[in-house]
Amino acid sequence: MSQRAAPHGGPERDALDPFGAATHVVFNQPAELDDYNLFSGDAALQAGVAREGGGWASNELAAVGARLGSAETLELGILANRNPPELDTHDRYGNRIDLVRYHPSYHLFMRLAVEQGLHASPWTEPRPGAHVARAARYYMQAQVEAGHGCPITMTFAATPSLAKEPALAKHWLPKIHARVYDPRNVPAADKPGLTIGMAMTEKQGGSDVRANTTRAIPIGRDAMGEAYELVGHKFFVSAPMCDAFLTLAQAPGGLTCFLAPRWRPDGSKNPIQIVRLKRKMGNVSNASSETEWRGALAWRVGPEGRGVATILEMVAATRFDCMIGSSAGMRMAVAQALDHCRQRKAFGAYLIDQPAMRAVLADLALEAEASLALTLRVARALDNRASDPREDAFARIAAPLGKYWICKRAPAHAYEAMECLGGSGAMEDSPMPRLYREAPINAIWEGSGNVQCLDVLRAISRAPQTLDVYFADIDSARGVNRALDADVAALKDDMRDLADFESQARNLCDRLALALLASVMVASAPAANADAFCASRLEGRGPRNWGALPKGLDLKAIVRRALPR
Ligand SMILES: Cc1cc2nc3c(=O)[nH]c(=O)nc-3n(C[C@H](O)[C@H](O)[C@H](O)COP(=O)(O)OP(=O)(O)OC[C@H]3O[C@@H](n4cnc5c(N)ncnc54)[C@H](O)[C@@H]3O)c2cc1C
Repeated sequence: MSQRAAPHGGPERDALDPFGAATHVVFNQPAELDDYNLFSGDAALQAGVAREGGGWASNELAAVGARLGSAETLELGILANRNPPELDTHDRYGNRIDLVRYHPSYHLFMRLAVEQGLHASPWTEPRPGAHVARAARYYMQAQVEAGHGCPITMTFAATPSLAKEPALAKHWLPKIHARVYDPRNVPAADKPGLTIGMAMTEKQGGSDVRANTTRAIPIGRDAMGEAYELVGHKFFVSAPMCDAFLTLAQAPGGLTCFLAPRWRPDGSKNPIQIVRLKRKMGNVSNASSETEWRGALAWRVGPEGRGVATILEMVAATRFDCMIGSSAGMRMAVAQALDHCRQRKAFGAYLIDQPAMRAVLADLALEAEASLALTLRVARALDNRASDPREDAFARIAAPLGKYWICKRAPAHAYEAMECLGGSGAMEDSPMPRLYREAPINAIWEGSGNVQCLDVLRAISRAPQTLDVYFADIDSARGVNRALDADVAALKDDMRDLADFESQARNLCDRLALALLASVMVASAPAANADAFCASRLEGRGPRNWGALPKGLDLKAIVRRALPR
């Protein structure tokens, strides 16, 4: 029987509590956001998927959205992060095993991802909208558990690099593409499905991989191609239980890309030894490690001396997934904030109806929607790039811009969303601390902020038409919003002289990213959302906090559209 609240907030005395010993009734606290559909409850996602060519996947996405939003799956996401992986370097008899043990819930997310093809579907079932549909699935799954996205992304991203080496591709790609997740610590030959990691970063250089000192000594040809032994170290190797790693090492002809298996084809352990697991602030469910490579067998991928160019294919794909992951984090953060504020009252009204809070919520919702809209637009460019050089050029500039901007916005967004929940938002039993700790990671790995800006410069300098394609895409939204039109005109002027780009990199990339996001909003979002985005982000007033929006915007409509249920 529930207790009735007395006027002073305490319980009334009744038959069950005759002496009035119960201190209080819990009221004005929200119900958990669970058992909802991450697809059907996300208007921006549904519209974006349809707009960018993935509408054919809607029914399946709705089914996935229901499963991911169930209380049971959300609980698994919590468990995967409460129980971090553990490393056993040796077994109890002293044999080297390099075994990382994950919580079963982590494996469940890996299995779900692989069975849905998050690691391969655009390669195995290419069709218009394939990247869009995959991005939508990934976006929903990353909202529930972000850590396992790391090996899923690396496995997905390995295909373009491996495809360059026919013998390796023939042996490895069928199992990499299989929709079977097999976490066993056994040789690749004994498994029906494989995952791939990436080991580039060394102690003396992460962004500047040319500083790598790991040596590659040629040992002859075998069935997989040109074989080498690698001697050196890698300072960050995430998901070290992957079955093989794309890596870089100095071969006689210069820095070269390799595929190194965790087990040798003869069934012996390849000496890639895990020294320790990183103690990470976020991405906790997933392991990242420091490793020693003591004569590890590896096969060359691409020509000697072309390592950076070869592995860049992989890196470019991982950067796109960072856009998805950070957009996903923002969506979950604003969904939590909205759902809380629609149930919690303060000073006589639901928080969602308090004008100051409504402005904050609307601002957070705008950021999340714009991030998703650009991510799905880039997904369409990835779908079309093989047949359309302009889409290829667009992807080359929009992906680093998107990775730079979206990933950088996530931490501040997560923090503000946390504050919407008040004190409970900062408690470890709320989803918000996990979202907050996860938020900075995507900006740092796979090329940190400045590196993305320099990548934008590289794309423009290598192929000056890249900038024309970028502006042509933005111009498709011209004539609708005066702030955007004025902003783009000024930007075109400022981009004429790139002599001092590096010192202006952040300034110019901020503006390039914002104009792109604004144009995608104008082209795709309801007028209330597009107007608010342009008014708040393009009409410069210097630094501002979340919710500091100009007057006259339809904030109710923005908030309503973003409600998760
Ligand atoms: C959780 C986690 C997991 C990771 N997993 C992996 C993995 O699996 N495999 C892997 O290979 N790596 C991995 N990394 C490493 C990651 O990719 C690197 O940390 C990242 O590339 C940056 O390299 P660095 O740490 O050496 O920093 P540095 O390269 O020293 O960079 C430091 C700062 O300097 C800036 N900078 C660099 N060059 C320039 C320049 N020319 N101009 C201006 N600014 C510049 C960077 O933007 C950065 O802000 C992981 C990192 C994290 C946090």
